[in-house]
Parts: sequence; structure tokens; C-alpha cells
Amino acid sequence: EADAAQALAHEPAITLDGRLIEACANIGGAEEARLAAASGADGVGLLRSEFLFLARDSAPDEAHQRDEYQAALSALGGKPVIIRTLDIGADKQLPYLRLPSVPNPALGVRGARLWTSHPELLETQLKALLGVTPLETLQIMLPMVSEVSELRDVRQRLETLASEMGLTARPLLGAMIEVPSAALCARSLAAEADFLSIGTNDLTQYTLAMDREDPSLSARADVLHPAVLRLIQATVDGAKGRCPVGVCGAAAGDEKVAALLVALGVDELSVEPARVPAVKAALRCLHATTLADEIPEWLALEDASAVRQHLSAWLAKPH
Ligand code: PEP
Ligand code: MG
Repeated sequence: EADAAQALAHEPAITLDGRLIEACANIGGAEEARLAAASGADGVGLLRSEFLFLARDSAPDEAHQRDEYQAALSALGGKPVIIRTLDIGADKQLPYLRLPSVPNPALGVRGARLWTSHPELLETQLKALLGVTPLETLQIMLPMVSEVSELRDVRQRLETLASEMGLTARPLLGAMIEVPSAALCARSLAAEADFLSIGTNDLTQYTLAMDREDPSLSARADVLHPAVLRLIQATVDGAKGRCPVGVCGAAAGDEKVAALLVALGVDELSVEPARVPAVKAALRCLHATTLADEIPEWLALEDASAVRQHLSAWLAKPH
């Protein structure tokens, strides 16, 4: 089975009912971009740029960043690459930023919220991103967006920089959906964004108020909790007819969850490179609209394990 999945890894993933789903790879930097290309991924759905900023005494300069982003684009040979701007502040800290220590960093100044106090960091990163070629394959994604003004501000900065640099092309700009407020207001975000990408690791944490770093809660911090699924559904509904929706949290790499996400209406999944062949293979066996018929009933179930049981039983039956 694994051999069969491997043989078809570079082919597109089309469901039995004819939906083309992009299966992309999550990477930590340019050196993993080759792994993504070799895995058969249709592109990179999440490059976590913060790894470039870690284990250093100061922030990487524009040229250093541009070389790294360019290397990732080049390794993917023209397939789309989504680069996420610096997501720092909660689980990841940069000593040279000297962020004040706060009692609850997961609810503090992190991700897109950092630009108010550190605008120069965003400026340098956006210039480095705009320096890559071809710009048409680059997509820029903002982490931890909780209101539409955060996206609009970055769009404006990007526009100003791009015209100062004399550029005619523009990269796509998208928002991560990782906070319940963003999922619930997806419609207004989707009006400003070129794409949305759901970060289920953080969305689960913030929906269930369960720290993703706490091992004693990890069994219960489950993306299949009906509340999390309802927020994913709200995101897809809000974006309908406006922009595509992806999922780049770890949950997308589980074949069963991946099937459910696609039935909920997600267009793109981004997973660890090694998971790409298996996820594509699972989607090729899925009749998404038939599974979608089950979802209203599953959203009314009382907890994640009930949803998991129904999902496993449904997938095990012939259709
Ligand atoms: C997520 O939160 O699901 C996500 C993809 O981002 P990270 O894991 O880097 O927080
Ligand atoms: Mg996240």
C-alpha cells in the first residue's frame, strides 16, 4: 500500500467525486524544501520562517533572509510556496527582541501582534520576501491574526514597499485562522485575504483553552472536538466564493482527519513531507460529498472521541 502511494506521490490528489485537493508540505526552512519537492508535494503550504531567526544574536538581515526564501522557491521549481512571517512570542522566544516576560505568553504579543512594537522586523522581512523571483509563486501568510485590520495594515505596507521597489507583480497575501475570533469572522477576513489557512494546532488550543505544550492535556486537545470542527466549518462558509481555504496544522497529516477536512470543504492540506504520499492516497479513495452528508449529525455529538468513532466506522465501510 505504501509502495502504491509512493508511486503516485507526484500525481495530483483528486477525490472520487472529482475535487482536486492540493497536498502541500510544511517545512522549517530552505534545507527542507528539497524534501518537500521529493515528497511529491504540490507546493509548500507553510514555511515557518521563525526558524531563521532562532539560535542567533540578532535578527537576520534582508539579504540573508532573501537568500533563504529564494532557495526555498528555487527548490520547488515553480510550485507555489507559502512563507509565513515571523511567528514568535509564545512557544518560541528570541533573546535579542527582549520581549517583556508576561504571565500568559500564549495570550500575549505574538505572531501578527508583534508588528506594533517591532515594525522594523516586518519591514525587513517583507523587503526580503519581495526580493525573490518569480514573485508569482510566492504567497505570504500572517500568523495569529485575530482581526481584519492586521491583514489590511500588512497589505498596505506590502503595497508601499512593492511600488518603492518598482515591482509590478504582487505576491498573494493570506491569513492564518488560529484564533476563534478569526474563524467566526472569516467572512470579513476572506474579503481582504487571497487565501486562508487554518492552523489547527493553535485553533484547538484556543478553542478548548488547553495548552498545546501541556502533555497532561494532549489526549484531550483534539481537533475532532465538535467545537473545533464547527469553527472550521464557519471558516469554510465565510470564505465560500471569496478565497480558498487550507489547513496546515498537524491534524491535516492524519489520513482520516484529512478526509473529514476535505468533506468540510477545505481545498488544500499542508502536512509533513513524509506524509504527502499517504494523504494523497487517502483522498483518492474519498467520496467527499457522501462523507459531507454525515457531518451535520457529527457536529452535534458530545465529544471528540464520539466523532472519531463515527469517522473511523464510516471510512471502514465500503461506499
Ligand atoms: C498551527 O498552529 O496549527 C500552525 C500550523 O502553526 P504552528 O504549529 O507553527 O503554531
Ligand atoms: Mg500556530
